[in-house]
Amino acid sequence: MKPETLVEFVRDIYQSNEQIPLHVPSFDGNEKSYVLNCIDSTFVSSVGQYVNRFERQIADFTGCAGAVATVNGTAALHTALHLAGVERNDLVITQALTFVATANALFHMGAQPIFVDISPLSLGLCPKAVACYLQENAKLTEFGPVHKQTGQRIKAVVPMHTFGHPVELDELVSVCAKWQLTLVEDAAESLGSYYKGHHTGTVGKFGAISFNGNKIITTGGGGMLLCSDEQSALHAKHVTTTAKVPHPYEFYHDEPGFNYRMPNINAALGCAQMECLPQYLAQKRQLAHQYEALFASSDLKFVTEPAYAQSNYWLNAIVCADRQQRDQLLQFTNVAGVMTRPVWQLMHRLPMYQYSLRGELTNAEFFEARLINLPSTPVAEVVND
Ligand SMILES: *Cc1c(COP(=O)(O)O)cnc(C)c1O
Repeated sequence: MKPETLVEFVRDIYQSNEQIPLHVPSFDGNEKSYVLNCIDSTFVSSVGQYVNRFERQIADFTGCAGAVATVNGTAALHTALHLAGVERNDLVITQALTFVATANALFHMGAQPIFVDISPLSLGLCPKAVACYLQENAKLTEFGPVHKQTGQRIKAVVPMHTFGHPVELDELVSVCAKWQLTLVEDAAESLGSYYKGHHTGTVGKFGAISFNGNKIITTGGGGMLLCSDEQSALHAKHVTTTAKVPHPYEFYHDEPGFNYRMPNINAALGCAQMECLPQYLAQKRQLAHQYEALFASSDLKFVTEPAYAQSNYWLNAIVCADRQQRDQLLQFTNVAGVMTRPVWQLMHRLPMYQYSLRGELTNAEFFEARLINLPSTPVAEVVND
């Protein structure tokens, strides 16, 4: 396909001759009203009605046992790993192709990553690759799985649902059960994505969502920890609020805690955004279908949801024939004012993770060189399908 064709197509979709960004939020619902109401109440900080309401909205929408709002998605993931019992010097398996926050959350725990390959089906952690890595490199002891070479305990598996496309969760659940590993889902990008009818982030013991400015809904900055049981949700709320034991005036904290609670003013934004989510999801599916039709008979392959899943199509993506075609397309579209982006560089290429353990990364390297993200802001004119 000629790069001009893509540029024309995108300009036509967005009906604009200006710079077209990758993803921007919109606040056409009750955002202003709720935020003003929040300011008038003076409860703008870590206590307030909107936090509880936003947590209930997310718990109802996702079907998790309990949801706890946090300052951002990385904080939600950090708290999830803490509650999953990850300790200093533990190893945690995750995918090499991800946004850096996944690996950083492990680092905050004092744990170390093992980078494993992705599946071409989901672009997320490959269950077969995890099973192979463990088979070759781990042994099951009375303390759980241990890395044969380093002697470190392997504690958890953290898949990430790339661009909103759910990973193969049944297979990952099986590997985790076999090896006594805890499954924690980085669902930062996948609010509104379902794996065989289950919302992403609710299959593992914990899931983490992000409400950063470029995600499907935003609270300015924010995150949500999804818990699979009520007890963990209560504990999560406790540790994210400095582990303070409730008392009218005494300061007593019964364990090491975080200051990770989402401020009420951000939650006010979240409550209004949640009301728009179904509409955004419909608009994003519509947009994805239009891209899919455009690329159907071209040399560029549009990334679609796996057959077992329903994706939120957070970021639309195509796979180029090779790195040269990718670079040419990136260059042309960005110069033409249509923002496109390559995928993240693999984690082990970053200086702080270059010496981390890793498996074979054939698929991750293939897609790293070929993926391009396309403008994905929901188009307002589109009617729900
Ligand atoms: C956005 C994102 C996060 C972290 O979210 P923040 O709210 O920015 O901390 C984590 N993991 C992935 C894969 C993300 O895309």
